[in-house]
Amino acid sequence: MGTQATTDLTVGIDIGATKILLGVVDQTGQILHKTGIESWQYPKLEDNLANLLDALDELLAPYDRARFHGIGAGLPGTVDDARGLVVYTPNLRWQNLPLAAMLQDRAGLRVHLIQDTGAAAWGEYLFGAGAGLANAVCATIGSGVACGIIIDGRLYGGAHHTAGEIGHLRVADESLVCGCGARGCLEAGGSGLGLVKVFRRNLAGGARSPLADLPPAALDAHAIFDGARAGDPVCAGAIDEMVHYLALGLSAVATTLTPDVLILSGGLSRERDLLVNPLMERIMEYSYRTVRDHVRVVPAALGPDAPLIGAAALHLAPEYGATGN
Ligand SMILES: [Zn+2]
Repeated sequence: MGTQATTDLTVGIDIGATKILLGVVDQTGQILHKTGIESWQYPKLEDNLANLLDALDELLAPYDRARFHGIGAGLPGTVDDARGLVVYTPNLRWQNLPLAAMLQDRAGLRVHLIQDTGAAAWGEYLFGAGAGLANAVCATIGSGVACGIIIDGRLYGGAHHTAGEIGHLRVADESLVCGCGARGCLEAGGSGLGLVKVFRRNLAGGARSPLADLPPAALDAHAIFDGARAGDPVCAGAIDEMVHYLALGLSAVATTLTPDVLILSGGLSRERDLLVNPLMERIMEYSYRTVRDHVRVVPAALGPDAPLIGAAALHLAPEYGATGN
C-alpha cells in the first residue's frame, strides 16, 4: 500500500433493479461526480450493459486513469468476486455474467463485485453510522430486506458470500407468501412489498380503508405510510405488523452477533417517525439484555448513496483489497 501516491479516487457503481448509479468517490467517501441510467429503459441485457459501459466512459473522461484504485460494483443479487461473476440477480435476470472483466476491459481498472447490501454496510461502517466501530450490522429495508455484516473490521460473507439474507427468516405470519415461494418470510410482511401484502390481507379480511379504492398499481408502501399519516387505522395497523416482523428478525440477528451498532438503512428508512423510531424501540423490547446493554440501534447516515460509496471503498476491505495496491 502507498506506493502510488497519486491514486486517490475510485469508481462506485450501484446496480439496482430500476436504476444504475455511477460515481467518482474520494478516499473520505465523498462523491465528486455522479451519474445515473435507467436499468429497465432498455429491454435487452446487451442494451443495459452497453449503456452501463458508455456511462462509465463518460464518467471517467475528465480524469487521469492513474488516479483510480479501481472500480467497485454493488449488485442486487449473488456475486462471486473471486471469479468476477454476477452469479444471479433475480430482478435483472443476469446469470453467470462476467461483469468484472467487461468493466475492466472498458476502463482498464481492477474491479470488485459485492452484493448491494454488503456495499451499503461497508459504506456505513467506514464513513457513516458505523464509523470508528469494529462490528456493525446494516439492515437494508426497501422492497425486500437483507443485511450486511462486518465483524472485526471485515465484511462477513459466509459460505459463498451468501450471508445476510435475513429477509427469508421465517418469522412472519404463514398467510403471507414470499417472492421466494415460502410462507412467513420476514420480507413477506416486513418489507415494502410485504407491507402491501399485510394491508391487502387485512382488506380481504373485512378491514375498511379509503385506500381500497386505489387502482392496484397505486397501492404501494408509500401510499400506506401516507394513509397512516392521514389517520387511517388500517394503514397504521399494517405498519405496526411490519415493525413487529422486522423487530423479530433484527433482534435475533442482534442477539446472535451483538454488533457495536445495528444500522437501519434502505429506501424505507426515510420513514423515520412511522417506521425507524418505533422499530428501534421494538428491537430493544424483543432483544436479550446483551443487546439492550451493548448494541446501539441507529438510523443510517449515508442515505441512498450508501451502496455506491461502499462499493467504491471495497479496495479498503482486507478481504477485497489487492495485496500489492
Ligand atoms: Zn422468502
